[in-house]
Amino acid sequence: MSGILLAGGSALTQRGEIRTDVLIEGGRVAAVGPQPEGTREGRQVIDISGLVVGPGFVDLHAHLREPGHEWKEDIASGSRAAASGGFTAVVAMPNTDPPTDSGHLARYISDRGRQVGLVDVIPAGCITMGMDGLRLSHLDDLFAAGVRVFTDDGVTVADSGLLRRAMEYLQSRGGVIAQHAEDPGLGRGGHMHEGRVSSLLGMGGIPAQAETVIVARDLAVAELTGAAYHVQHASCAGTLDLLEAARGRGVNVTAEVTPHHLWFSEEEVLSMDPVAKMYPPLRTPFDVEALRDGLRAGVIDAVATDHAPHAAHEKDVPFEEAPKGVTGLETAFSAVRTVLDPDPRLLFERMSVTPARIASLEGHGNWIEPGIPANLVVVDWHEHWTPELFLSKSSNSLFAGVPLTGRVRFTFRDGRLTHDSAQLHMPAPAQVSGALR
Ligand SMILES: [Zn+2]
Repeated sequence: MSGILLAGGSALTQRGEIRTDVLIEGGRVAAVGPQPEGTREGRQVIDISGLVVGPGFVDLHAHLREPGHEWKEDIASGSRAAASGGFTAVVAMPNTDPPTDSGHLARYISDRGRQVGLVDVIPAGCITMGMDGLRLSHLDDLFAAGVRVFTDDGVTVADSGLLRRAMEYLQSRGGVIAQHAEDPGLGRGGHMHEGRVSSLLGMGGIPAQAETVIVARDLAVAELTGAAYHVQHASCAGTLDLLEAARGRGVNVTAEVTPHHLWFSEEEVLSMDPVAKMYPPLRTPFDVEALRDGLRAGVIDAVATDHAPHAAHEKDVPFEEAPKGVTGLETAFSAVRTVLDPDPRLLFERMSVTPARIASLEGHGNWIEPGIPANLVVVDWHEHWTPELFLSKSSNSLFAGVPLTGRVRFTFRDGRLTHDSAQLHMPAPAQVSGALR
């Protein structure tokens, strides 16, 4: 006999959280329920008493930087960071070098993910060629390569006609247009949120309206075409109002928020620490509160990390010159758990079940029941810890040194252990698939 028995914990099932053992065999959940003593024979038994097993987290938005920017991150280091954060699938943003605008480039990324073997690396594809905003990318070729999330993340598709054509193409096929909503004109010259703190610092700002004018336009085009539309990293209260109104009209829209926008406000920039620089920028405390309420209420559907690693030498420059972005894969669960203090089921809906549905990932985001692929995470809902060291190649994290509650203990992808928090030194990713099988 083989397989792994998760013994003595509780599991998040369709019917809610229940005390149970979970048996993993052949890459799937084989049984959910109290297991007789004999089940332990010949199996690896992991005592998870006091812990909760749920569907592995799914990140709709990570920058793994390969190909082209491997000094910041690569698919191996990004996968390791993701597994340690409890993720079993990660949608890799296409603003690599070259950008993922064709099928063979998308296949390269999913193949590399498979070689590393720690998480399913799901390529997102560009909406426009080379993200130039002028010509549509090879949408059919990308779709055939398995791409279901299309975005020029990092920049906004400004041309409404192009956006309409991309939406019309996808409308009949499935897949979703995801937008980094930031009006290029309104955002020009801005480094942070335009408001009280930017005035105080005399720094160029990006008004919240840079986001809302694009979201409003996109929702209109989505309504025109009937396509599925997804708002990336929503940052302000105005976007929530637009989402609610559009849903009332039947627009097929979803939205994500990052852990850092749920935690931090523009005040963070007072330190002038370049780690606090990201687009969209950290907004007002009022916006932060609205985003938390929106996530709880389901106006925002999902948490996504926008994990954006940058090397220390790149961030260690004056604020205005620094690249935008913070890392997030390793701290997302704990950050959301701490700041919202939600019911476990709500957290898993927002971090696993719904993002898997948005990205059309059938093997992920399933409540625990016999037969599902064993893409699982085991968390300690109450452990206190403080992130200090990171598995990502980059450590531009706003959560470094911040005390958090709730910690990922084990991650399983297709039934294989891909992270164990008790093992500080996991095997190098190239050896992982053999060593931990
Ligand atoms: Zn973005």
